Amino acid sequence: MKKKVFVFDLDDTLYKEIDFLKSAYREIADWLSASFHVSDAYDYMLSCYQRGENVFLNTNEKYNLQIELSEYLTRYRGHVPHISLLEEVRQVLYQLKIENDVLGIITDGREITQSNKIAALGLEEYIQRENCIISECFGYSKPALEAYLFFQNKYPDCIYYYIGDNVDKDFIAPNKLGWTTVCLLDNGMNIHKQRKVDVQKSPLYFISSLKELLVL
Ligand SMILES: [Mg+2]
Repeated sequence: MKKKVFVFDLDDTLYKEIDFLKSAYREIADWLSASFHVSDAYDYMLSCYQRGENVFLNTNEKYNLQIELSEYLTRYRGHVPHISLLEEVRQVLYQLKIENDVLGIITDGREITQSNKIAALGLEEYIQRENCIISECFGYSKPALEAYLFFQNKYPDCIYYYIGDNVDKDFIAPNKLGWTTVCLLDNGMNIHKQRKVDVQKSPLYFISSLKELLVL
């Protein structure tokens, strides 16, 4: 029987990115409190985000601060997040691991930010670090084929799966390569909303929980 290779997207697939955002706002609010004696910035930033406003610009205005936006962004992207895997996600990864399947990640983003997330989620317990492909250091981002070919070349003659959430970019390359593509449906909490797309962008399967992977 052929070996299976399961490659996952990170944000809004293995955990909800809104949790990272909240963690970053918490960190920034603590810093504003300690350095500028600003209180309740966390609730204010979150409400700005929910209204679709420019969070950091508004925060400067509301609290009469002159902080560079780049300073906020550096803290947002570079903070060590307090995020964790859902128990059901942990169980799925554990199950795949004990079945001896190969596990990997292909994620777009900055090396520091995505590496911090991978470490905070404890994903290295299930997925080898060298199988975690982060676009900034790998040199290609989705929908390029390269990251997917990395897995095909490293593990030839297997059955390949890509599990993601972004119908605009996650499934184009693996569809071309004949992988089984699986989209985790938005439960209403995703940062990037899912819309209807044409067939070359569409996944083969939609699932509402990663647990469904075990019965595909
Ligand atoms: Mg995603």
